[in-house]
Amino acid sequence: MGAISLTDRKNAAISRGVGMTTQIYAERAENAEIWDKDGRRYIDFAAGIAVLNTGHRHPRVIEAVKAQLDRFTHTCHQVVPYENYVQLAERLNDATPGDFAKKTIFVTTGAEAVENAVKIARSATGRSAVIAFGGGFHGRTFMGMALTGKVIPYKVGFGAMPGDVFHVPFPIELHGVSIEQSIAAVNKLFAADVDPKRVAAIIIEPVQGEGGFYPAPAALMRALRDLCDLHGILLIADEVQTGFARTGKMFAMDHHDVAPDLMTMAKSLAGGFPLAAVTGRAEIMDAPAPGGLGGTYGGSPIGIAAAHAVLDVIEEEQLCERADQLGGRLKQRLEALRDSVPEIVDIRGPGFMNAVEFNDRTTKLPSADFANRVRLAALERGLILLICGLHGNVIRFLAPITIQDSVFSEALDILETSILAVSGGH
Ligand code: PMP
Repeated sequence: MGAISLTDRKNAAISRGVGMTTQIYAERAENAEIWDKDGRRYIDFAAGIAVLNTGHRHPRVIEAVKAQLDRFTHTCHQVVPYENYVQLAERLNDATPGDFAKKTIFVTTGAEAVENAVKIARSATGRSAVIAFGGGFHGRTFMGMALTGKVIPYKVGFGAMPGDVFHVPFPIELHGVSIEQSIAAVNKLFAADVDPKRVAAIIIEPVQGEGGFYPAPAALMRALRDLCDLHGILLIADEVQTGFARTGKMFAMDHHDVAPDLMTMAKSLAGGFPLAAVTGRAEIMDAPAPGGLGGTYGGSPIGIAAAHAVLDVIEEEQLCERADQLGGRLKQRLEALRDSVPEIVDIRGPGFMNAVEFNDRTTKLPSADFANRVRLAALERGLILLICGLHGNVIRFLAPITIQDSVFSEALDILETSILAVSGGH
């Protein structure tokens, strides 16, 4: 009898509910490269889904974590606090947009940050309704799932969602939805479904992540800020995917001339260690009573130590500038393919938060099949890519911003060859 493959063991041991886009079992990783159990090397343009803006095992991050491991690993900040936690809160209060006094809490995952932002907003306003956007993604917990604007696979089969959550369309010119239509939908909601005086918050990703890498237009963000101010509603920016230099600025909200009241962060905050945060206006953050927020592992000293190193690296290695350069090169390379690849309908994204969108060359409809075939063709050639979008027809690029030039050039060649191969063999 032959040996049972790891894939068979995985299928027998793990719920299929945890989907997997590759069957590459990681053995080791460094910056933008991963080696699997068979010694095969891959260039990693997924970066653990936007977690590794500073790359796999950045030496500074590893050094900080090792030093922390030698001191203590867990006390629970609610029982025996530690200075690093306080200091990271101070740094995030300074680094996040908004010229006002701020406070921060630490939790463990992006979904948990979203849950807490909603709890804080409800507590501060005494209201319960929340408005989110179609195509948006905010996590897999119950409130995160309710706020998420995509049914399959995120909500299907999971029963009744928490109430008082409303969705409006996200403006995407490419798909025929204007800013005016989005704002009109909010006002229609206020007229038909929910009294604005009952709305605690509007939550928005400044660039939709899972939804397709669509940037929120500046005019939309301004209009939302005005609506929030008019009705006493809080604006929550979900920066879980957009944060920490990815868009060419520290936060995607730095591209806007208005500030959110609350912001959620996770993923690249701690360079591969589980840590998430909510930062916001001090008086809003103080609304919940002591004990109402927190969690056993929230603000793990390991994650906190890693996050300090991440913030240092972003500054010292000028990753915001580097994100602009890398994104510029990537978009230029894709633009050069437009004439020969009729499936390409859009190339976009600020900084290094870039995506390419594909339609079928004949029907002109979104083609998840084309995007997936490009992904598989690239994987075969050693490049890991991720798909996103409500229609699954967008390839998003989330390579470490620390990627070496030579590895980046190699990846661009693989990407180009893969797109041409799939388009040519249509
Ligand atoms: N918000 C956004 C914008 C995200 O992209 C994600 C994860 N993709 C989440 C929330 C949830 O984060 P986590 O998976 O860490 O719970």
